[in-house]
Amino acid sequence: MLVADHPLVAHKLTTLRDIHTDTPTFRALTDELVTLLAYEATRHVRVEATTVRTPVDTAQGVRISKPVPVVVPVLRAGIGMLDGMARLLPNADVGFVGLARDEETLVATTYAERLPADLTGREVFVLDPMLATGGTLEAVIRMLIGRGAAGVTAICLLAAPEGIGRLEAVFADDDAVPVRIVTAAVDARLNDKGYIVPGLGDAGDRLFGTI
Ligand code: URA
Repeated sequence: MLVADHPLVAHKLTTLRDIHTDTPTFRALTDELVTLLAYEATRHVRVEATTVRTPVDTAQGVRISKPVPVVVPVLRAGIGMLDGMARLLPNADVGFVGLARDEETLVATTYAERLPADLTGREVFVLDPMLATGGTLEAVIRMLIGRGAAGVTAICLLAAPEGIGRLEAVFADDDAVPVRIVTAAVDARLNDKGYIVPGLGDAGDRLFGTI
C-alpha cells in the first residue's frame, strides 16, 4: 500500500474534506488529486524499449507496453476520478462497474458491468474514492482477477484501516496477481454507518449532488 506523501496532495485533500467546499470545487480538486495519485500508481506500469529519431540523432526510450492498461471507475463516484486518471494514461481502455452498497447491511451488489471479457495479461487501475469496509473493492478486484488481470491497483482518495485490512487479508502479498492500494491518506476508522472518520462525507454526493 502506498500513501502519497506530498504537501500538494495533503493541501488538496484538506480542502476536499472541508464541509464548506462546494461541488464545482470538489470536482476540480478531485480531478487534480487523482492525477497526482495516478503518477504514483503508474510507477510500475510496464514499458518496452523503443528508439525514436530526434531532429539531431536517435534516442533510446520507452513506451507503454501492449496490451494497454485498463482503467475501471466504480460507478457512481469513481466517474469523478476518470478524467484525472485519463490525463496520464490517455491510451488506456476504460471499463465500468457499478456497485451499490446497502446502507443497512453495507453489502455491495453489482448493478452494472461493462468490462473486457478477457483481461489476460492486462494491468488494471480501479478508481473508487473511498476505501471504507472494502466490500466494493473486494468484489470488483475478484471480478477483475477472475477475468485474468495481471495486476490490480486501486486508487482511492481516502482509506480506512478496516478496508485496507480486508483487502490485505483477501489478496495477500504472495498472491499470483499483485493487488496494490494507492491513497492520499489513511483515516482513523469507520463509523456505525460505514462512513470514514473524519473522511469527507459521501463522495458521490459531494461530486454529483444528492439523489
Ligand atoms: N463512501 C463514501 O462516499 N464515504 C464514506 O465515508 C464511505 C463510503
